[in-house]
Amino acid sequence: MNTTVPTVTACLAAADQTKAMIVREGVLAEIPSLLEAYFPGAAVFLAADENTFRAAGSAVLEIIQDSGAAVAGTYVFPGRWIHAEYGHVEILREKFHQERESSRSLVPLAVGAGTINDLVKRAASELGLPYFCIPTAASVDGYTAYGASLLCEGFKQTLPCEAPLVVAADTAILTAAPAFLSSSGFGDLAGKIIAGTDWIIADSVFALGGMEKPAPGTAAVDPKAWNMVQIPLKNELARSAGAARGDREGVKTLFESLGITGFALQYMKDSRAISGCEHMWSHVWEMENLSFRGAPVTHGHKVALGTLAAAAFTECLFAEKPDPPAGGTKPGGGLSWADRETAVRRAFAGLDRAMEAALKTSRAKFMEDGEQSRRLRGGILDHWENIKKAVFEKLPPYGELRQLLKEAGCPVTPAETGLTRERVIATARKAQMMRNRFTVLDLAFETGVFEDVLKRMENSDTYLV
Ligand SMILES: [Zn+2]
Repeated sequence: MNTTVPTVTACLAAADQTKAMIVREGVLAEIPSLLEAYFPGAAVFLAADENTFRAAGSAVLEIIQDSGAAVAGTYVFPGRWIHAEYGHVEILREKFHQERESSRSLVPLAVGAGTINDLVKRAASELGLPYFCIPTAASVDGYTAYGASLLCEGFKQTLPCEAPLVVAADTAILTAAPAFLSSSGFGDLAGKIIAGTDWIIADSVFALGGMEKPAPGTAAVDPKAWNMVQIPLKNELARSAGAARGDREGVKTLFESLGITGFALQYMKDSRAISGCEHMWSHVWEMENLSFRGAPVTHGHKVALGTLAAAAFTECLFAEKPDPPAGGTKPGGGLSWADRETAVRRAFAGLDRAMEAALKTSRAKFMEDGEQSRRLRGGILDHWENIKKAVFEKLPPYGELRQLLKEAGCPVTPAETGLTRERVIATARKAQMMRNRFTVLDLAFETGVFEDVLKRMENSDTYLV
């Protein structure tokens, strides 16, 4: 495999929706010329929340007005915290729609962090409008992603929508953002380590011989997406660890690295390159409305803890090679579908929408055919040492990863986000039921040691303490 680190320009070229991403100090002054180049003749509709309007929105508005470009409207979401709820998309869509009627053409301009960006992205996309993104924090990978992560009737979903046409990030504004937002971005970026090890696992299982068809959710590694996200990752994390402490170069690296992961997503139209089971931990807590001291825990901080949990799970799984399948072993290490269904219903009790989705996903992943399941387990065990070797070439030791996250200002103990150690470990069960993508959780499930691995995590005095 070619392992050259591609440049930002090369990564941008691989993206099919975003045409420009400029990350430098003072870039706000260039907004009028960017509008002219990419949205000629369009009137601007600026959306922000109270914090981001103060941090950048009012300055952006002034720059646009001074340039003589048309401003069709402004909407500032009220309140201290804005949630990524679909209802907010409807508010924006209605406003964009009304203004579009009276303007020749309209360009929605998102001035804010991940939530504002996702709301504008979806609302713009529903009206077929390309939009312009002015980020105010290096807090998530979602700015340049294809899709918006939104809560619909209490269920977290990634709704499809086009990435921004143009992104202009001022490093002075990103650096001035609250430290917890930069550390959140770092957590989201660190999660790509697990996305990488999970993809190595899915690739190894995909390639197993002796199967009638590949196991559900497995896929070969895509070299181009791998090179964009995984090859530079270690270096990017090292260079951006000071972002939350106000290191401007660190913030720039962090924002560009997060942006590139979005381009990999635009290129692949599949989030496998940038999201493994660490994001499933985070999605579970999002559905459970995890908050701490009255504030919602950020996406990136949940991902940081999910990353540690996934790293601990991976170390505990590979600490012991599972036993070979005994005669008559049922899928999933001895489960019938009826057992499995009961387990899913129990895990998601009280979360009806999520339960429905988890039942569907778990059914799709469940290998009904006992013979296929036995072959899968046999094949995995034959290649166990090779898979282990490839995974640990990518995965830093748990203690090292914890130290890196800590230095970057991420939470590294469950208590820092209002969680308990027991809850983080137990979340693995739900995380494994939620997405049809083969991860380390499925590797443990298919080899019949899932619960053993959780016990090993529980009994250790190293993990998640
Ligand atoms: Zn993320």
